[in-house]
Amino acid sequence: MMRFDAIIIGTGQAGPSLASRFAGAGKTVAIIERGKFGGTCVNTGCIPTKTMVASAYAAHLARRGAEFGFSVSDVRVDMKRVKTRKDAISARSNKGVEDGLRATKNCTVIQGHARFQSPGTIAVNDDVLQADNIFINVGGRASVPDMPGIHDVPFLTNSSMMEVDFLPEHLIVVGGSYVGLEFAQMYRRFGSEVTIVEMGPRLIGREDEDVSQAVLEILNAEGIRIRRNAKCISLAKRDGRVVVGMECSETPKEVAGTHVLLAVGRVPNTGDLGLERAGIATDQRGYIIVNDQLQTSVPGVWALGDCNGRGAFTHTSYNDYEIVADNLFNADHRRVSDRIQAYALYTDPPLGRCGMTEAELRNSRRRALVAKYPMSRVSRAFEKAETQGFIKITVDADTQQILGAAILGVGGDEVIHVLLDVMYAKAPYTVIQRAMHIHPTVAEYLPSILGKLEPLV
Ligand SMILES: Cc1cc2nc3c(=O)[nH]c(=O)nc-3n(C[C@H](O)[C@H](O)[C@H](O)COP(=O)(O)OP(=O)(O)OC[C@H]3O[C@@H](n4cnc5c(N)ncnc54)[C@H](O)[C@@H]3O)c2cc1C
Repeated sequence: MMRFDAIIIGTGQAGPSLASRFAGAGKTVAIIERGKFGGTCVNTGCIPTKTMVASAYAAHLARRGAEFGFSVSDVRVDMKRVKTRKDAISARSNKGVEDGLRATKNCTVIQGHARFQSPGTIAVNDDVLQADNIFINVGGRASVPDMPGIHDVPFLTNSSMMEVDFLPEHLIVVGGSYVGLEFAQMYRRFGSEVTIVEMGPRLIGREDEDVSQAVLEILNAEGIRIRRNAKCISLAKRDGRVVVGMECSETPKEVAGTHVLLAVGRVPNTGDLGLERAGIATDQRGYIIVNDQLQTSVPGVWALGDCNGRGAFTHTSYNDYEIVADNLFNADHRRVSDRIQAYALYTDPPLGRCGMTEAELRNSRRRALVAKYPMSRVSRAFEKAETQGFIKITVDADTQQILGAAILGVGGDEVIHVLLDVMYAKAPYTVIQRAMHIHPTVAEYLPSILGKLEPLV
């Protein structure tokens, strides 16, 4: 039996920082990884996809050369080179995580699949490890629902997409949410025909209707076909093509393509962790149940990142690390419920989001104000010829505090932080109106947009 002060399972966005924190405090720590160091974000998520989004954006802009005063005769994307660039950038982070962990004094790195044997012991390879503090950071993977035909047809997920080094002639993306939309737009820009098949009545169904509609129009304008209300999706092979059936009211009731990407949600990697042997409770979908400080149902065991169902982003996983570390090492009683929802969708233009949606606000029946402003009236946007989208901000009518925002437009993923930081400061929106912002930027419009707030009716 090997004994440590702490054991960490998984090297995603929380585990490595926590290992370094324990080791830095003079504690012995073991960190176990069964796959690639760095987990989803580094290897099959944020970093590779945003690298590919950048390649797709460059190709798109080159095709628009005439609008900017230059000409490019033939924009043809070489997918092998796109993949090589993506692989190099991912590998840099992957190596950085592994090298950093291996160089950390007091930290033992173990490669293998970890399983609980009891609340305080973990089996990995032929070893048994014991610690009073165990941290689960096992992340998640693409959901593969048991839809008709799923076993008859080859399909791609965000992970296998990472190996694609050719241009699919016609990519069908099943799932019109964040992951699906990013792949759909980038492959369209690489040169594929792209169809999105979405079960629900609109894309990114958690967003406000005006946001969903604007994103749909942006994608449609690039020639992406979008089929919504696709109930009972099925897969089949016919004449060398993949046919996606969509029993829905719209016709045609099927679409044939060359490749299918399944982007229909994520599932936590908790089914093969031996949680039952430790008595660690999960919910019906397999997410580990945690309290506000990320402790599981078993004392001495914490769950961080995607596997706890309290967030599904790199920054929420890293924030989980900060919460746990501050509680353990700084006696700073941070809680998950203190954080404000924030994320971005990396279509072009991106969508930056924070706080409540307008729909959530309406349901809450709070007295609120709203202001909405089109990007077509933002000078930075038309200087860059990127005028799609809008800015929408909601404010509490009584406290004057910002409640939420959606910035769909050029720079939206960055500008949103102006609002987010004021929200964390719990300051009234009027603070922004007294700030001098830089010209020309998108952010310089926030003070005047906030001057247009009207009651949300
Ligand atoms: C296509 C795509 C794009 C994304 N883009 C963004 C984005 O732009 N911004 C953003 O914030 N988020 C994005 N995300 C989400 C983000 O990648 C995840 O939220 C984040 O990586 C979750 O990190 P984590 O720490 O929970 O675990 P993960 O990064 O998933 O790491 C978990 C690790 O645990 C290991 N593991 C699992 N089980 C075991 C076991 N039993 N024993 C040992 N090791 C184990 C795994 O091999 C893995 O390395 C994206 C996700 C996808 C799929």
